[in-house]
Amino acid sequence: MESHLRRFRSREEALAACARWKQFLPVVPSAYQPSGIVPAEAWPLLLLGAALGAGAGALAGTLVFAVAGGLTAVPVGLLVAIVEGRVIPIYFTLIVGCIAVAAVIATYVGTFAALGTAVAKVVAYFGQMGKSRSTTIALVLSLLSSATALLMCFLAVQLIIARVASGPTHEFLDVLFGRGFIGMGAYQWSPLTWINLMTGFALAVYFTRKTTSNAPRFCERCEQFMDEHEMLRISFEEAVNWAQGLRDESMAQYGGGMLADGTGLGLPKVFECPICGAGYLDLYLNFKAGFYDENGASSIAEESWMIGSCALTREGVENIKSWLLKEKPST
Ligand SMILES: [Zn+2]
Repeated sequence: MESHLRRFRSREEALAACARWKQFLPVVPSAYQPSGIVPAEAWPLLLLGAALGAGAGALAGTLVFAVAGGLTAVPVGLLVAIVEGRVIPIYFTLIVGCIAVAAVIATYVGTFAALGTAVAKVVAYFGQMGKSRSTTIALVLSLLSSATALLMCFLAVQLIIARVASGPTHEFLDVLFGRGFIGMGAYQWSPLTWINLMTGFALAVYFTRKTTSNAPRFCERCEQFMDEHEMLRISFEEAVNWAQGLRDESMAQYGGGMLADGTGLGLPKVFECPICGAGYLDLYLNFKAGFYDENGASSIAEESWMIGSCALTREGVENIKSWLLKEKPST
């Protein structure tokens, strides 16, 4: 299926090859830069989005914590039983131990990933309704909203812990998530609670930024968001030609003669204004290398970066679409 996988003897060799490719085909900035305009009518929608986003984020985080945490209790409980019993073979204990650790990490990261992503999606949705083109405003509002969602999520998690956890688990989770809130009477927050809150916020910020940076493109002429088209992959050689063409800006009108077998290393992305038909082309290179790690197991290193980007006229968009559109319209 994947016929373009290059093989290396070690991770170091694979990463060195990736670095050489990056030197040869360096990362380029996107030709599309949002104008940053926030129309007056977008503000109430953005603020509404921030308020609803905080609720959605708290709900998403709490749900993931409750469900994933409930599932995590199974391997953790089994591990505790094994350690106390000391009768099970060591390899079985190791397997259960690994599953328990993976489940704890997944629950922890998943909780704050869900929170940050949900907040950013709600804020972005309302921002787009108001045709806001400022990623900075979206990010600032999302971060404020994430901080609020995080505190609500902590409160909800405290309530869950107080209801369902018991014994040493209860004590540990109490230290991690604290008891009560400052200014609400008897609260009990250890340094670990604060570290947990900061780590949670850092994770939420990471996922909020990730979601916010994927904002759709906007045609300033037509005041309309653009559509993104899924394109066929192109070969490495073709991608190199394109990247060079885009660097000399001779590419904007060009679009013919491309070889697309759908499995190459070059991935073009085309954005099109639904009204005037103009748009953008971004070209990504997908580096993928197979190697054997320290334990002799076969692994894959993968990295994608933008090697070319340009604005396209209506003709340019049509031209590239006629060659590389993944699903041609059935008209
Ligand atoms: Zn347009």
